[in-house]
Amino acid sequence: MKLSVIIPCFNEQDNIELMYNKFSKIFQEQKGNYELIFVDDGSKDKTLNNIKNICKKDKAVKGLSFSRNFGKESAMYAGLKESKGEYVAFIDADLQQNPEILLKMMKILDENEEYDIVTAFQKKRKDGVILKLCKKAFNYIINAISETEFKDNASDFRMMRRKVANAIIDIPEYYRFLKGIFSWIGFNNYYIEYEVEKRATGTTKWSFRKLFVYAKEGILAYTTMPLKLPIVFGILGILASIVMLIITIISYSSLNVIITIMLFLFGIQFIFMGIMGEYLAHDYIENKHRPIYILKEKIGDSKNEN
Ligand code: UDP
Ligand code: MG
Repeated sequence: MKLSVIIPCFNEQDNIELMYNKFSKIFQEQKGNYELIFVDDGSKDKTLNNIKNICKKDKAVKGLSFSRNFGKESAMYAGLKESKGEYVAFIDADLQQNPEILLKMMKILDENEEYDIVTAFQKKRKDGVILKLCKKAFNYIINAISETEFKDNASDFRMMRRKVANAIIDIPEYYRFLKGIFSWIGFNNYYIEYEVEKRATGTTKWSFRKLFVYAKEGILAYTTMPLKLPIVFGILGILASIVMLIITIISYSSLNVIITIMLFLFGIQFIFMGIMGEYLAHDYIENKHRPIYILKEKIGDSKNEN
């Protein structure tokens, strides 16, 4: 099978059929060569029923359903594990991302062997001013303190080769942040610009609170910097105590002696907190059980070589 398309759905009852119809029309010529995987992320409306109805009439459609709302990241992961295609793509259920772009993504992967992932990004965000600023700030902060690079405005709207999908499946961590995982796994990205369309029906499933938690998870998952920060304060404390020591010697004041000792002790304390943070950070990273490396390709059969 050539293509698996994963569609996370949370309370999208009216979009399921719309999405299915639009996709089927665009991919008419590829019939038999693709599968659509709708993942119902614990919807409370008729989303699951509607998925079931489509599955009944079309063999190319599969459905997965969660016992409760686990979040889009979990839905995408479940879809990946279920997918069989040579290429795998994510697309939202609300038709904000035009399935026609999937055809374009497929063509890029077909024609450019050197690229492994096609990622769509929005040149112009259509969010409100505050949300736009928050998203920009988040991107700036996470890029500044994390070792992994995050592309501005990159979306979850992507198509990848099987080897990339398998690499993601092999990352089992519970606190998932797919944007970060995509940066972490590497591979060659081809970026295409796209314009977000109006939601077909329903409203956004992301409240400000949900987005805030998502951003927090992203930072926690992709940097251990805050744990190591006390070391910087510790060193500053020690340096300040040295300056104070010099002032004390010159001024010969007993108050300065107390301040010097306090600064020195603060410094030592913070340094030890930072060291504890370093150990904790190591343990945290180790506990994610990430693969030590990801093979992109194996060239030649090493068993036959001398
Ligand atoms: N979604 C999901 N689980 C959630 C939240 C959202 O599966 O907990 C799905 C949702 O049904 C949609 C996609 O993720 O297909 C993007 O969500 P939405 O359109 O609400 O986000 P926005 O486009 O507003 O950023
Ligand atoms: Mg949307």
